[in-house]
Amino acid sequence: MINQNILSSNEVYMTTNKQLHIIPALKDNYIWLLENSHKQCVIVDPGDSLPVINYMAEHQLSPIAILLTHHHSDHVAGALNLQNYYGNLPIFGPDEIDLPITNISTQLAITIADFTFDIILVPGHTLGHVAYYNKPYLFCGDTLFSAGCGRIFEGTYQQMFNSLNKLKALPDNTIVCPAHEYTLSNLKFATHVVPCDRNISHYYQQIANKTITLPTTIAIEKQINLFLRCDELELQKEFAINNDLKLFEFFRTQKDSF
Ligand SMILES: [Zn+2]
Repeated sequence: MINQNILSSNEVYMTTNKQLHIIPALKDNYIWLLENSHKQCVIVDPGDSLPVINYMAEHQLSPIAILLTHHHSDHVAGALNLQNYYGNLPIFGPDEIDLPITNISTQLAITIADFTFDIILVPGHTLGHVAYYNKPYLFCGDTLFSAGCGRIFEGTYQQMFNSLNKLKALPDNTIVCPAHEYTLSNLKFATHVVPCDRNISHYYQQIANKTITLPTTIAIEKQINLFLRCDELELQKEFAINNDLKLFEFFRTQKDSF
């Protein structure tokens, strides 16, 4: 049974033989670590290096790889520092990233020690964006946020919509690890758009005083994330848009100017 309670800062918890760690960084980024039973870990989207180095030392962890989801600097800027600091740490990422990395864009999965990550192509926020899935953990960068989704900078609405639907199709107990703390502002938008939605307003109240609202789960997001609910007939009726992609476009453009 997955614990769906919201975690407090830097809390470490276990669901399998892996442990997930969350490190706040920069303005509102999260750098995620996934640890195996040998205290080895992979680092996801290090937009900065010092918080990671400090956290590793404090918890006596050894990094074995860096995973990057897309090319934006708040996700990759700490990677080279970490690679040098730990002595040639391998970096994996999509080919859109202009760093000496192992390109994983054409691979279905990668194995690092006893970690196997499925590579899920999720274009939209950027064209080469990928998500990493080591059941039940999903590292989705700037594609899926709690109660929201990434801005569409390089792809099309159709691409982003398809990408979100791929993630939505993962098991309900998937532990979703996005790269930003945007939950409250996303819920503020959602309650503005659908003020009578009880799931959304209830969840908003539940997390209103939390500083860290992640990780989330696919089960939670299916209830509170408008961008995953565009196929709901009630919502389509409410906005007089009887097409899920068109409703997604409507929500995304509204959010862009909110
Ligand atoms: Zn980004």
